[in-house]
Amino acid sequence: MRKRERAVIAHHEAGYALGLPSIGNLRLDEEVVRALSDALGRACGACSLCCKLLQIDEPELKKPANEWCRHCRPGKGGCAIYDERPPVCRDFACEWLINPKVGDEWQPLRSKIVIYITEEGGEFFLVFVVDPGIPNRWREASYYQSIKAAALSGLRSETGTYLQTLVVIGERRWLILPHRDVEITSRWYKVVPIGDDQWEVLIFNDEEHGRRVLAAVDQYVETLTPELIAEAELIAEAELIAEAEAEQDEQLIREADEAMEQQLIREADEAAAIYSAEDGDIF
Ligand code: SF4
Ligand code: SF4
Repeated sequence: MRKRERAVIAHHEAGYALGLPSIGNLRLDEEVVRALSDALGRACGACSLCCKLLQIDEPELKKPANEWCRHCRPGKGGCAIYDERPPVCRDFACEWLINPKVGDEWQPLRSKIVIYITEEGGEFFLVFVVDPGIPNRWREASYYQSIKAAALSGLRSETGTYLQTLVVIGERRWLILPHRDVEITSRWYKVVPIGDDQWEVLIFNDEEHGRRVLAAVDQYVETLTPELIAEAELIAEAELIAEAEAEQDEQLIREADEAMEQQLIREADEAAAIYSAEDGDIF
């Protein structure tokens, strides 16, 4: 049994939270990129797909995901400011360009998918950004099998780095696990090992929900199974409900106290009015 990692909530910054693929923060020196791509006999050529699919949010250049950069002339020479392009562009390379393990079927113009590795919140991600114009391309058998194999390899840390694999299409993203693909709908989630070559992903409503679920999960010291995770989620949910009810009870008590106080004031006022009226009658 794989030793269970202590659960820590994965917290991703805005780019990931919105499911927008940023150009990545693992910068490679331009010369290194050239040496690696030359060794493979690969070059960007007519491809400019990263200049469209990826978001860039740097002081020197900003662009949303899935829109062409204003400097790009796709199919007509590519970057119009190539010699002066900013560092964020110089230091970026997709995995097809530099990684010998990535086959030619992944050439971005052919696959319509840009692959890159990035780091967020201390965790590393292998990201497959799919052109929204061909959203099912990644599910085609040959691509899908490679993505699944990469996901397993990444979770096993076979390259020496623990990598989570994401598929991103527009604002949607999926975490790829060996046995299933999980659409990530919250910025708060955590991948947890549940056995040999088995992982599950917990998705939380918010940070507090995550802490509670993970605290409940931590009660199961030896192994995690989907059933235990579901149970932990129920425990956390029940705690939240109980707290909400307690808060509601306190509110009801406060309201009752206030109502009682108002009632007593009214009664005192009425009594005072009666007394003063009676006083008037007497004198
Ligand atoms: S996606 Fe890759 S091959 Fe295409 S332009 Fe970008 S870095 Fe070059
Ligand atoms: S500046 Fe050039 S290299 Fe950078 S995103 Fe725009 S077109 Fe692409």
